[in-house]
Amino acid sequence: MALIVQKFGGTSVGSIERIEAVADLVVKTRQQGHQVVVVLSAMSGETNRLINLAKQIDTRPSSRELDVLISTGEQVSVSLLAMAIIKRGHSAVSLLADQVNILTDNMFGKARIAEVAATRLKHELEHNRIAIIAGFQGRDIEGNITTLGRGGTDTSAVEIAAAIKADECQIYTDVDGVYTTDPRVEPNARRMSQVTFAEMLELASLGAKVLHIRSVEAAGKHNVPLRVLSSFNPDEGTLISFEENDMPNKVVSGIAFNREECLIKVQGVPTGTQYLSKILKLFAENGIEIDMINQVNHNFEKIDYAFTVHSNDYLQALELLSEDQAQLGAQNISGLQAVAKVSAVGMGMKSHSGVASLFFDALAQENINVVLVSTSEIKISVLIDEKYLELAVRALHKAFLTENG
Ligand code: ADP
Ligand code: ASP
Ligand code: MG
Repeated sequence: MALIVQKFGGTSVGSIERIEAVADLVVKTRQQGHQVVVVLSAMSGETNRLINLAKQIDTRPSSRELDVLISTGEQVSVSLLAMAIIKRGHSAVSLLADQVNILTDNMFGKARIAEVAATRLKHELEHNRIAIIAGFQGRDIEGNITTLGRGGTDTSAVEIAAAIKADECQIYTDVDGVYTTDPRVEPNARRMSQVTFAEMLELASLGAKVLHIRSVEAAGKHNVPLRVLSSFNPDEGTLISFEENDMPNKVVSGIAFNREECLIKVQGVPTGTQYLSKILKLFAENGIEIDMINQVNHNFEKIDYAFTVHSNDYLQALELLSEDQAQLGAQNISGLQAVAKVSAVGMGMKSHSGVASLFFDALAQENINVVLVSTSEIKISVLIDEKYLELAVRALHKAFLTENG
């Protein structure tokens, strides 16, 4: 008998029929003799619907109130699933994050889980009740409702699995595992039966939204065995493996992309690191995370900087920079929204040369221009015009991940 945490995403609970199907799956796991704790997302489309309601009141609504609003979607799905399981003759209880004591920091909209109390969940397990917990939400130290960022239910599930020392955390979704790239963009993408933890971390951080990045981080931190599988057709899925493969057979194991990055340009800044430091401080003080950074020097007199930020932070970042333009000594501040980042990831890059040349050759053959480049030991990322994103993903997948590539 194992203790299993099962997480179901929005499409997996997107209708009454889907909720009934999930109830069957949970009950089946129970009948196999396992103990189960369930973590749910809101029904698909619900979180977007709620955000749209808020935006009709205010385009930049109070972040505290937005969290109160968008956390409600999960309250609906957990209660419906509990009803469906009870109807099948099993004991079940739906619980909000507050009732479980999921404590977070107070960064509304992107809160981090600080602690999950195991007491209530252990109590439900001892009484043979299937606990069904609302994902995506938490509570800060002052009792405010917080949310964990889009896709955050994966992280709720892993943190809960860690707190109750579950044997496995299963992430049920609408694809049957982690693929070499998003199968919706490249139909030739292949499911991987295993992916190393380091690669998954990189893929998720570069935009492969099949797993919320913080869920992968949490799995690593707490050593939680993590598996991604389909709720429509459950099979073995993909195991996120802690074993590093010394001799990876592919140089590149996946292509990831992110449409939610925007470019910010700060041009004609005097030389001297203090100016860059001022810009970065401005971002840091306002909770704006920067991804790519690039600088171009003009004869050592003036410098142009380029940054990428999340699209949610784009307008605020431009506003803040414009307010401080004189202090920053910048001649011009501008931005580009219609850009996207595409990346190739692979442990094999550490020990192979020629990867960058193949990467840029694949883009050149499709006449795709690159705005920014960033590399690490196990990835190459470029920022491109968003309209070429799908073409770039397919070209890179063909170059690195198909037999004739
Ligand atoms: P859920 O609502 O179940 O959390 P998500 O939409 O957040 O589901 O994540 C699943 C989606 O992730 C898939 O439908 C797929 O389009 C996308 N995806 C992106 N990259 C990958 C990848 N490498 N492997 C599998 N799916 C991916
Ligand atoms: N319902 C939230 C969202 O749509 C959380 C999640 O699905 O993981 O982002
Ligand atoms: Mg998700």
